[in-house]
Order: sequence, then structure tokens, then C-alpha cells
Amino acid sequence: MLASFLSLRRDKVLVSDLRRIIREYSERFKDTLVKIMNFCGTHEWTTVNFGIRSLMPANVQLVAGPGCPVCITPSYYIEESIRLSLDGVRVYCFGDVFKLPAIREVRGAKSLEDAKACGGDVKVVYSFLDAIKDARDYGKDSVFLGIGFETTAPSYAVPMVKGHVPRNLLLLSVLRLTPPAARYALENTVKRGAAPVQGIIAPGHVSTVIGAKPWSDIAEEFRVPTVVSGFEPLDVLLSIALILQMRARNTVKTVIEYSRLVTWEGNRYAQRAIYEVFEKTDAAWRGLGFIPESGLELRGKYRKYDALHELGLKELTRERWAYDLLPGCKCSEITLGLAKPSDCKYFMKACTPERPLGPCMVSLEGTCAIWGRFGGGGIAEEVARDIGLEGGW
Ligand code: SF4
Ligand code: SF4
Repeated sequence: MLASFLSLRRDKVLVSDLRRIIREYSERFKDTLVKIMNFCGTHEWTTVNFGIRSLMPANVQLVAGPGCPVCITPSYYIEESIRLSLDGVRVYCFGDVFKLPAIREVRGAKSLEDAKACGGDVKVVYSFLDAIKDARDYGKDSVFLGIGFETTAPSYAVPMVKGHVPRNLLLLSVLRLTPPAARYALENTVKRGAAPVQGIIAPGHVSTVIGAKPWSDIAEEFRVPTVVSGFEPLDVLLSIALILQMRARNTVKTVIEYSRLVTWEGNRYAQRAIYEVFEKTDAAWRGLGFIPESGLELRGKYRKYDALHELGLKELTRERWAYDLLPGCKCSEITLGLAKPSDCKYFMKACTPERPLGPCMVSLEGTCAIWGRFGGGGIAEEVARDIGLEGGW
């Protein structure tokens, strides 16, 4: 089954057809730039790793958006987690948050990795469930640094609904919602005088939970053709072709290309669990500031699990938020599709995946890390040969 799927993914006939369709549609726009934004780190990975950007006609530009929860986690939450771990509270985090640099040093530590080296109690886990198991045995105060988008939110919500979370484990919620960020990115592209986004490749996994409907509202509001896409190279090529087709026909629709997993309504069970436990709130995004209704905080009934509330931590308010990127780091422009990693003077010089200076260089879903790890070495040409595109576009 998997083997046949993978061979379909590289089917030369399908790829050649898509190649022809993309080229034909792009010719209709002549010198007009068609800018297509992805909202998911894994789409950026597919685009870079398989050299898709280098295969586009000159007037089709693929840009990355705010698609990685690690990149947009405000420094404030890292600093608070460092402080807690050094004060003897066990802090659980995902592996890719471990190295995430804060903007301000806390007692000699600028990341949770530093905090652990300084004697802080930091434990890297694969999931919230792993933290639940460990916290039960541990029995003392512990906090889960809960980052993520809608895809991850049910993994926090369901154990709380089912009463599986021990009282000594609290959640520091940094959950963020993708549609408000998409709106923000589209508005800011125009406000900053950049070429408007003319097509959206919407995140596949997020949409398995929220469904395609929220993207359709955005597509209508901004008059931008949108495709909820899967993650194989063929998925991304097909999504680009569909966007160009809609532009050529002057229609705006939301199409579910990732129909093997995404439905219009999404996963109702997961949605119910999320909104049983959380409610929407205005929330900060790293380097960007506050975006209305873009975060999830615990509701009253579940406040007993809220690290902010239970440990008396100060909430990150608009007044307290301060610009949290290093001077010269272009992560805020990169997450809005206004710059690319190679526009940053630190890229692969002072800032590398091994020693990240900014948040986009940390996670495998971060645009700078993807470009740094997978963007060179002739990968594009190699893959083009592999899937039968040796003749170029
Ligand atoms: S959770 Fe899935 S859809 Fe969301 S950014 Fe990560 S890979 Fe993309
Ligand atoms: S290369 Fe590093 S410093 Fe520059 S934008 Fe990317 S993460 Fe920020």
C-alpha cells in the first residue's frame, strides 16, 4: 500500500502533466507575479527538500508563512519556564523547544537547554501523555510548556476532559490558532506595501482538526484561492496548479486537495474537546505581537491546571510584551512571507541549526532551519532528475 502510494507520488506522467499545467497557466499571467503562501512548516520542508521552488516559472513565487509553533512562541514563555526549572519545578517540553533561544537571559540561561546545564529540572518528552506518566511518578510540582497549533491542542484537551492529568502537573498554554495568523499575514503583506498573496496553501494536519471551512472564510474575505494540501511533492505541485487554475478563471474557492485526511467540517470530537477545555484569547506571537483571538487559554473549570493561575505567574499582556527578536534577525519578516532566510545577515554564519540565534532556526518546521539543512547541495537538481524533470520547465 505504502509502496504503491510512494510510486504514485513520483509518477512521471502525473508530474509531467502538472508541470505542463503550471507552465501554461503561468504564461497567462505573463509578467505578473503570482505569490503563493504556505502556512505550514512541513509544506516549506517539501518545497525546499524536493526543490519545488527552483522548478517554478519565473512569475510564480512560493513564500513561507507563520507555519511553525516553535518559531512563534514568545520569548516570555521560555524565560518563565527557565525560571521555574531553576526554582525546582520540573518543566516538560518537546525536543524542538529545548534549544529555543530566549531574548533575555535568566540567571545565566538563555534556553531550557542552558537551564538544564545550570541545574534546572527540564525533561524533554515526546508527548503530553509521556509527561502525565512521568508527573504521576514524580508527584511534585511540574509544568508542561504547551506549545502547538490546533493539531496539538486535542492532545492536551482530551486527557483533561477524561480526568487523566494529575493535580501536580500544570499546563503553560502557548497554544495558537492558525486562521487568525493567516489573516494577520495577509493584511500585513498589503499594509507593508509588498506584493499581495494570490494563493494560499493551507495546512493539512491543522485542517484534519478544524476542517476546511475556516480557510474558506479567509479565502472569501481576501479573495484568495486556497487549497488545503497534503505534504508529498505531488500534493504541493497539484495545489499550485489548482491555485493558478482558479486565478486564471478568476474564481475564488477553497479546495481540499488533501482529501485522504481532511473534510469540510474537520474532527468534531477533537473540536469539542478543545473548546470544552480552552477558550480563545488575544495572544502574542514572537516578533509579531498580539493577534486578536489567536490563542487558547484554559477555561474556568480547568483553571486548576493553569500554570499561570496556580503558580501566580504574570500573564503576558499587550503592555508587558516587548519585541522579542535579536536586532537584525529577520524571523518576523520571514514568518509573514516578506523575507527569506538568505536575506538575514546571520543565516548560516552566526546562526546555524547547531547554534540557533533566532527562533526560525530551531525546529525542523522553522523556515531558516529548513533552508539551512535542506536548501543546498544540489538537492533540487537531483530530485528533478529523479521525478523526470531533467528537461527543466
Ligand atoms: S502541525 Fe502539521 S499542519 Fe501544523 S505546522 Fe506542523 S506539520 Fe504543518
Ligand atoms: S537566520 Fe537566524 S537570526 Fe536570521 S532570521 Fe533566521 S533565525 Fe533569525
